[in-house]
Amino acid sequence: MKKLKLGVSSCLLGESVRYNGEHKRDSTVIDLLGQQFEAVPVCPEVELGMGVPREPVQLVADIGKPRVVVRMVGAESGKDWTEAMVGFNSIKLATLTNISGFILKSRSPSCGPGNVPLHHELSGEKSSTEGLFAGALMKHFPSLPVIDEETLQDEIAKEDFIARIIEHRRAATRRGASKQ
Ligand code: SF4
Repeated sequence: MKKLKLGVSSCLLGESVRYNGEHKRDSTVIDLLGQQFEAVPVCPEVELGMGVPREPVQLVADIGKPRVVVRMVGAESGKDWTEAMVGFNSIKLATLTNISGFILKSRSPSCGPGNVPLHHELSGEKSSTEGLFAGALMKHFPSLPVIDEETLQDEIAKEDFIARIIEHRRAATRRGASKQ
């Protein structure tokens, strides 16, 4: 049977793409892929040209605007990567039409699907949000099953994720058949 394609944050596959030149290989992710899925690796920060090694980034909230605007900036330099990431997202997401799910790196300012620290510049407070790539992914493909590697460690959550992937693929197949 043809393997279903899953987007995966590249560092979880053992690729040395993190800001410090290291990886976050996750054996649960690798084992899951081996059974019935094929990985489509994505590292937004490297693919948009930030390089390895690189300055780590963080998310900051601009509260001086009519609504809160989240920016991605260098943790030390303050270099603003927001526009580059938004541009990358629109190009990359258009190429990911054949994936049936996505395993994202938890708490990453780019890849985290939630619980990413958000720094409020004026007040100094912290809250949490989603990473800039993950947020764009979930908005572009609202029904796509997504999970992070920490949640995947839970057996029930993993089985639920697999069931959602299979249902997502079935729904896509049904839509394709109805158009013929
Ligand atoms: S979390 Fe995302 S952006 Fe960061 S190294 Fe991993 S794949 Fe790249």
